Amino acid sequence: MMKNCNGMGELPNILKNFGIDADPDWLAIVLFVRNILRQLSVYSDEKKGEIQREMFAELARKDFSREHFEQVLAMLDMYLMQTIGTLELEKALAEEKRAATRLLNEMNEVIGSMQGASERQNRKLDAFKEQTVDVIEAGGDTSFIVSKVRDMFQELIIEFREESRELQAKAQMLERTANFDPLLTELRNRRALDAYLHDSVLSQRKQPAPLSMMLIDVDHFKNVNDTHGHQVGDDVLKALARIMATHAVQYQGFSARYGGEELVVVMRNMPLDRAVLKAEAIRADVEHYDFRVRSDGQLGERPIQFTVSIGVAQWQKGWDSSDLVRAADSAMYTAKRSGRNRVVAYEKESKSISVD
Ligand code: GH3
Ligand code: MG
Ligand code: MG
Repeated sequence: MMKNCNGMGELPNILKNFGIDADPDWLAIVLFVRNILRQLSVYSDEKKGEIQREMFAELARKDFSREHFEQVLAMLDMYLMQTIGTLELEKALAEEKRAATRLLNEMNEVIGSMQGASERQNRKLDAFKEQTVDVIEAGGDTSFIVSKVRDMFQELIIEFREESRELQAKAQMLERTANFDPLLTELRNRRALDAYLHDSVLSQRKQPAPLSMMLIDVDHFKNVNDTHGHQVGDDVLKALARIMATHAVQYQGFSARYGGEELVVVMRNMPLDRAVLKAEAIRADVEHYDFRVRSDGQLGERPIQFTVSIGVAQWQKGWDSSDLVRAADSAMYTAKRSGRNRVVAYEKESKSISVD
């Protein structure tokens, strides 16, 4: 396997097959084996083959835990230490020197392309390079050099690992800000909704499956704001979002805020009649929800009742995502016109199918 991967071009594919293309630790290990061990002429071809086979066997376990990582490092360490005392030490040293330079170049390239090579990372790589060259040039005991380079290498791996964790955390934060609503935090925002709907409609072409959505609008929400204030209005919306998301998560519905006090659930693999039942369950839960305002740590004596009207529609051939939203919206308005606190399904002529 290793014999066939001389060019950088193949390496990413091989790593991908093992599921480690984005993990700096394992990348580093593979590069380490590929470059340093392979270049050491103290090893016979047989021995090299053995190390490579062991390495790949370890990778094939697809256990990328820290523990396993340490075990693999220990295994490599053992092989490195076996070189001490052989007759070819000097030759090995020269090879290592070349291999280390190559390794550094490749690490630079791979890690750089992987993480966009921030300045901080580049500084670390440069420092590593300098130290490595210093250690090698200082000469002396090969085992010392090998273990020193290995220590520095490990340090570097740990630092990269921390940095990529930080990057990941930042990316997650950005992902949240970009896709979730700031007030109704469990709901996606309009941007994410539009993207999801667009994607859902596109996937109809490849893999047709009933695609439904419900549009929920609070009844007489202006009254809630006028009577209890905007803050209480916000709390009502939060309660509604929680109820809705709790339902939606059970059938992998995608819950989002369409805008203002209008919320939606998009349901892939859900035909209209079943989507109506799901909407009805939300409507009933909202109607019976015991919402009380808390002031000075005390719950209000009387609950604030609120209800919702819900329009449900199923995607039809030839529609784009805005046709689907329009259909749900039109059904929702029919629900409003016919008395509110009800679910209406969009059909050719929207007909009310639920609830007094
Ligand atoms: P209905 O839908 O039953 O016809 O009556 P409505 O009173 O709910 O009327 P409409 O849907 O037109 O009004 C929506 C109101 O919701 C207007 C706006 O002030 C209020 N609203 C929209 N977004 C928010 C929000 O984030 N917080 C609060 N507190 N109010 C909001
Ligand atoms: Mg509205
Ligand atoms: Mg309303």
